[in-house]
Amino acid sequence: MKEHLYTIPVNEAFDHGDGCPFCRLFENLEKTELDLILGASMMEPEVRQITNEKGFCERHFAKMIAGNNKLGVALILESHLESLKSGLKPGGVFARDISAKSRERIEKLDSSCYVCDRIDEKIGKMYETAAFLFDEEKDFRRKFDSVGFICLPHYRRLLEAGARVLSKDGYSELARAANGKINAYLSELKDDISLFCKKFDYRFDDLPWGNSKDSVERSVKFLKGAKK
Ligand SMILES: [Zn+2]
Ligand SMILES: [Zn+2]
Repeated sequence: MKEHLYTIPVNEAFDHGDGCPFCRLFENLEKTELDLILGASMMEPEVRQITNEKGFCERHFAKMIAGNNKLGVALILESHLESLKSGLKPGGVFARDISAKSRERIEKLDSSCYVCDRIDEKIGKMYETAAFLFDEEKDFRRKFDSVGFICLPHYRRLLEAGARVLSKDGYSELARAANGKINAYLSELKDDISLFCKKFDYRFDDLPWGNSKDSVERSVKFLKGAKK
């Protein structure tokens, strides 16, 4: 078997069995990146240059603020705001429009995040590693079949990675296995949600809840994954 980048974390995530393994990888990467940005990387000038430029998404600002280093967040913000002061050029007072430069800068800020970009870079390689492992290792296929589910956003990213790195046959097998998982979990969720709805009708008071009690939360996890 060829050694691939990220073989170890990908295998570990699939060993767990419950939940989406890619959500687990995402959460681990996110935790590492948040620890780094408010710890070892915080004062590095080259990192500061990137955080000044990219800023953070709402989710990651919130997570940073909820951490235990608010001074660290403030120091990052201090230079981020300073860089925005020189980057934003108010104007267009008479043209009834924001200046083109400001618009471009704000649009960029709206869609960029230092932490998200760092996670994306690594998790992108992890989808590829998972596709390779599925193709090459019988043992990994067994793990793949036994994970709880793969959420929809990560299912898409996995198949995109598979299409990039696998042969036509290899991709077909991965797609077949992944589609099987998605279809089975969709049916299960749909049944659980229907039962959940029924339980609000007094005529079904005696019907057991089965697995339906947390079906609303599980449906959202399946639809949205760990990311937002
Ligand atoms: Zn996921
Ligand atoms: Zn983010």
